[in-house]
Amino acid sequence: MRLILLGPPGAGKGTQAKRLVEKYGIVPLSTGDMLRKAVKAGTPVGQKAKHIIERGELVPDDVVVAIVSDRIEQPDAKNGFILDGFPRTVPQAEALERMLREKGLSLDGVIELKCDEGILLKRIENRIAQTASRGETVRADDDPEVLKKRLAAYRQQTAPLVEYYRKKGALRTVDGMAAIPAVAAAIDRCLDADPVGRAGTPKKRASPGRASRKGRSAKTAPKRAGKRPTQVSRRPAKRRAMQRKTRKKAAQKGVRRG
Ligand code: AMP
Repeated sequence: MRLILLGPPGAGKGTQAKRLVEKYGIVPLSTGDMLRKAVKAGTPVGQKAKHIIERGELVPDDVVVAIVSDRIEQPDAKNGFILDGFPRTVPQAEALERMLREKGLSLDGVIELKCDEGILLKRIENRIAQTASRGETVRADDDPEVLKKRLAAYRQQTAPLVEYYRKKGALRTVDGMAAIPAVAAAIDRCLDADPVGRAGTPKKRASPGRASRKGRSAKTAPKRAGKRPTQVSRRPAKRRAMQRKTRKKAAQKGVRRG
């Protein structure tokens, strides 16, 4: 399972990523976390990124693309990964597509957590207050002024990715302002009921009958615990195309008969 979580800072991507990592046994891949580690370790990348992060701006594309490319080659990422905070620009998305193709990998889905900026500002202010009250160090970029810049960077540079992935048929949008369990349930519904396949092409269901079973609640729907997306995407493209054709014909016949 290879997923992208898309959403502005404070949308709860980290929280949802953590849960999905446990559910699917995949690795979390947060470019923000990786950059912060590099800053702490004082590596050349860290030195380059430090002030950019503190200003709430974006680190150059080539730097983050190289980090992600190296990371997904690691053995623990073989089972899959969830990208949180990457890609953040269209060139990064294009680079990701190229690198996945070169490695013979594909994406299973892009989940957008749709949010309201005003509420996000409040959320981050609460997060800062809670972190400080626990006596923990507040992130240098968790500051209302820097956050405004990070939100502006999201609006200008990252939001176009929503359209980018929508056009590819890969985007699934959930309400990121709902309570954490509700967001989690909405994500699960997206992944269970409507998986997307290679290069963002919507996957067709294995049996035509399933497509019409609308109205099933999350409680009554059978649990498929994430196995399906990977299984479906492994089907050879030619076979999938043939199956689609057969199903289309069957559906057309059904309409004529009815
Ligand atoms: P995050 O923890 O994802 O909010 O990232 C914190 C900061 O790291 C961002 O404000 C950027 O300065 C930098 N950063 C993280 N991911 C990226 C990325 N994909 N492209 C550019 N800069 C990034």
